[in-house]
Amino acid sequence: METSKSNYWHSRAQRVIPGGVSSPVRAFKAVGGTPRYFVSGAGSRVTDVDGNNYVDLVGSWGPMIVGHAHPKVVEKVSAAMSKSFSFGAPHPNESLLAESISQRVSAAERVRFVSSGTEAVMTAVRLARGATGRALIVKFSGCYHGHLDSMLVSAGSGVATLGLPNSPGVTAGQVADTVVLEYNNFDELNELFSERGSEVAAVITEAAAANMGVVPPLDGFNEQIAKLCAMHGALMILDEVMTGFRVSRAGWWGKYGSGWQPDLITMGKVIGGGLPLAAVAGRAEIMDLLAPLGSVYQAGTLSGNPVATSAGLATLELLDQDAYDLLDKRAGEIGDAISGALNGHVVQHSYQVAGNLFSFFLGCSRVTNYAQASTQDQTAFKIFFNSMLDNGVSIPPSAFEAWFVSTAITDSDVETIALAADRAARSVAQA
Ligand code: PMP
Repeated sequence: METSKSNYWHSRAQRVIPGGVSSPVRAFKAVGGTPRYFVSGAGSRVTDVDGNNYVDLVGSWGPMIVGHAHPKVVEKVSAAMSKSFSFGAPHPNESLLAESISQRVSAAERVRFVSSGTEAVMTAVRLARGATGRALIVKFSGCYHGHLDSMLVSAGSGVATLGLPNSPGVTAGQVADTVVLEYNNFDELNELFSERGSEVAAVITEAAAANMGVVPPLDGFNEQIAKLCAMHGALMILDEVMTGFRVSRAGWWGKYGSGWQPDLITMGKVIGGGLPLAAVAGRAEIMDLLAPLGSVYQAGTLSGNPVATSAGLATLELLDQDAYDLLDKRAGEIGDAISGALNGHVVQHSYQVAGNLFSFFLGCSRVTNYAQASTQDQTAFKIFFNSMLDNGVSIPPSAFEAWFVSTAITDSDVETIALAADRAARSVAQA
């Protein structure tokens, strides 16, 4: 496959941008080779600067759920753009999008817009501390919640991919105020609350962990977090940046949340339709502690700007029940095809699913926490990844990430993926 133009741009980028990338996992450090410089996308497919075309199973890490450059999204965004990009003042789109989110997710009584998932989590953490007057935040190893200091302690995603469990620059104070527990471990959770329950400001968890590969919560795990938080006066922050509006119209909680409720929910990715937009949402009495009503400060020059909100509104409008049924169907077809190819070539793996998010742990049986996820065969993944790419399928360049489908995937894409997977599985088996 011709990659000379991607190579050219990457060497140019490396001279002015650390590692040549604006976000670490894009650098292909874990999988080798040169990152492809994508310059256009249409529906399920992306094209790189050398003219190579790929089925896209990254979808900008989640936002492109209706595919690239969907005509209805382009139309709304273009109309918004022609009237200016940002005013730094309230805009009707903000109310429309907040209403749409609240209608879908009843626990989102109030919604405050920001520009990235990191900012949403940062705000939720500050709000939880402000509301409770406590400092301690509990998180789970292998879960990723953005790159704010306290959340980089034992995180997933690029932190796991690059093996940087505790980034330099995170102060001892931040580490001391963060307790890290094993994901899906009820005993550790119960024990922490019985020993230090009165110190906990919040427990934050991914609605379904998908930043160490896909590791769904065990039955009752999220519910137990909600229960313990309520008993001890702590808040539950449900991070739905990845799962929100992807696994159902009301996110993970909307689909699997009967009998329990988070206090705060963080959202991102899909609600911005590919433009920078995220949100923190939750119970009115907590959310109203935010300035200007309350004294917990949070702000943003570009927050809720009319262009990003128009992309979010257009994307959510396209996501009716038929769209979710289609996403589930495509995820099943693709996941089954890959797992079938791996089985066909006797490559041991665990095929893990959370709604329409899925991933594969090569060389593993079932994975329920980060310690187990870390035992996967990353060399085999590297071979698998590169073979998929060479055969026209772009998957996340890391074994610690979920794969993302879009409603734009076609039957012919599924065939392309199945063929590529057969070749990739053979390459792994022969290595
Ligand atoms: N939380 C979760 C669950 C995420 O998956 C991510 C990003 N992958 C974030 C937070 C951070 O979002 P952003 O990259 O927009 O800052």
